[in-house]
Amino acid sequence: MIAATPAPTRVGIMGGTFDPIHHGHLVAASEVADEFGLDEVVFVPTGAQPFKLDRDVTLAEHRYLMAVIATASNPRFTVSRADIDRSGVTFTIDTLRDLHAVYPDAELFFITGADALGQILQWKDADALWDLAHFVGVTRPGHHFDTDDLPKGEYSLQEIPAMAISSTDCRERVQADKPVWYLVPDGVVQYIGKHGLYKDPSSYQHPTE
Ligand code: ATP
Ligand code: MG
Repeated sequence: MIAATPAPTRVGIMGGTFDPIHHGHLVAASEVADEFGLDEVVFVPTGAQPFKLDRDVTLAEHRYLMAVIATASNPRFTVSRADIDRSGVTFTIDTLRDLHAVYPDAELFFITGADALGQILQWKDADALWDLAHFVGVTRPGHHFDTDDLPKGEYSLQEIPAMAISSTDCRERVQADKPVWYLVPDGVVQYIGKHGLYKDPSSYQHPTE
């Protein structure tokens, strides 16, 4: 019989398009988990992203499975379908409410890179976000923190090892027949090749479909 694991009390949430998931995402989650003593980090692939409605995104099921493959070896990393199973555009306020319902007794920590943290005030119901989670902004090469308008005490900034990797660059590399080995986990390299992602137009979905 498998012993019941105690309910996690400190849960990180790593939202992202993950198109594809790469080592920058994984290092960010691992570093924040260590610094804040998190029991679990939940990766939440987005549905349609409000800031990315102008570009085609890979089918949610592919992005979800790549996140599962990338996190499978870490017992503290899990993947949630909350955003991809909710219809319509993904807003972080809905992500946090859904995850709060799954982990009603846990303290939530929302993990973002420097670029995304600066956009928080443009997010839907920005004022309500602070009550639902503590926000942790991590350093990202090429991006500066823009925290002037954020409420003090509601967020933390954390320096992490610099990983100059972006999903955009990974996609462009695959399109140009350049390697993505060591930028993304090995299983993700193989998944991309197996399904022709970033080359085969049928693996894309228009964000509002
Ligand atoms: P894209 O180029 O498609 O926007 P991305 O690499 O920025 O992809 P996202 O899925 O947009 O990846 O990012 C999800 C979250 O991970 C965001 O909060 C982003 O700031 C953070 N993040 C992404 N890459 C890094 C990195 N190399 N270092 C630190 N944080 C990162
Ligand atoms: Mg991004």
